[in-house]
Amino acid sequence: MDFSYTPEQDAFRAEIRAWLEKNSNECFGKGGVGGSTASLLDVRDDERWNQLREYHRRLNRAGYAALHWPKEWGGEGAGVIEQSIYQDEVLRLGLPLYGCNQLALDRIGPTIALMGNEAQRKRYLPKMLTGEEIWCQGYSEPNAGSDLAGLQTRAVIEGDSFVVNGQKVWTSLAHRADWQVLLVRTDPAAPKHKGISYLLVDMHSPGITVRPLVQITGESGFNEVFYDNVRVPKENLVGELNQGWQVSIATLMYERVSGGTRHPVERTINELVELARTVNFEGAPAREHPYVRQRIAQFASEARCLRLSRYRSLSAQLRGRVPGPESSFGKLFATELNLRVAMFADELLGAYGALEDGIGAIDHGKWAHRTLAARGLTIAAGSSEIQHNIIGERVLKLPKG
Ligand SMILES: Cc1cc2nc3c(=O)[nH]c(=O)nc-3n(C[C@H](O)[C@H](O)[C@H](O)COP(=O)(O)OP(=O)(O)OC[C@H]3O[C@@H](n4cnc5c(N)ncnc54)[C@H](O)[C@@H]3O)c2cc1C
Repeated sequence: MDFSYTPEQDAFRAEIRAWLEKNSNECFGKGGVGGSTASLLDVRDDERWNQLREYHRRLNRAGYAALHWPKEWGGEGAGVIEQSIYQDEVLRLGLPLYGCNQLALDRIGPTIALMGNEAQRKRYLPKMLTGEEIWCQGYSEPNAGSDLAGLQTRAVIEGDSFVVNGQKVWTSLAHRADWQVLLVRTDPAAPKHKGISYLLVDMHSPGITVRPLVQITGESGFNEVFYDNVRVPKENLVGELNQGWQVSIATLMYERVSGGTRHPVERTINELVELARTVNFEGAPAREHPYVRQRIAQFASEARCLRLSRYRSLSAQLRGRVPGPESSFGKLFATELNLRVAMFADELLGAYGALEDGIGAIDHGKWAHRTLAARGLTIAAGSSEIQHNIIGERVLKLPKG
């Protein structure tokens, strides 16, 4: 493939870079947005959330909120090279790719656009873009995570509505969300993949209770959600009744593509290099220690492989191919690399690596926080083991385990 950019693409990069630097400084201050994606969803930090919403409004006004959406959905219809330039620049600054409405813009909007009807596209897509309506994703349940098709939350039809009863868990952003995509069982007698439906649920409906869960980082980005006779209008069904599994898979595919692209691993590695310049390791400056140098070089090579493989996938899209199970590779590799880099920083910091705050905490404890947050990212959107299974079975064509 050709790695050179046209003068127009270089100009586009310069324009985006200048815009991002100015607006992220104005919205988040000189320190930047900071933290991990998970911490951006912290329920207790209203100030940060409001900054993120303001940043989102500006992104949308500038036309960057959904560069990747086609014009007929209200996006910019940018080519894949422009999208890739935008991603590079956003990740360079460690900013969120989709402002405050990540789930709406990276997976739920595209699913409604492709599998919903015209009335649903008209009603929901515009307010996703403006950030006026925040979305969350109600898939996992206490007994249905990796085995998602085992879900038990029930919906029965009564007149013009579905009536929903049950429970979801680990629902990111439910505490901020106005709307949710919800997987429910509508035919308990059918084989488990066949009796599921995909609903759009108003999170302000009577009968919904959201209870934040505290994560290992001490933050509360995800929640338990309980449904007690919640009425959902029949027109909020996406696709056919009992055929929601196909719709849910589309959302998961978009989620995994996004999961492989949104982690600023190269930026984190640059910060690791800075750390190695300032601390000692085994009695000598860390930057001079051969083991430290080798580990960092290895991480940098892997991050470059990840970037090249992202370009390869973009190149395939340019030739008209849709993302397939190889999106599992990006998700698996990016989140595992992110975890290993954070754990190595803790190794460099020794006993100081455990300090998240107070005297002795290096860089305000950001590495300890990252290590704790990074583990969750290897589980969200399908755990690493599940991604290994998908790659083994669908890419490498190995027999089912
Ligand atoms: C930060 C974060 C955000 C999340 N946000 C959301 C959200 O917004 N909405 C939502 O619906 N869910 C969300 N989740 C839930 C997430 O999708 C599930 O945690 C994940 O799918 C795993 O399911 P589980 O927790 O039930 O674990 P289980 O499925 O019970 O798995 C337990 C362990 O067994 C392993 N395992 C299970 N099955 C297999 C198998 N067949 N082969 C090999 N190993 C296996 C798993 O890898 C894991 O290590 C989030 C999770 C996290 C960590």
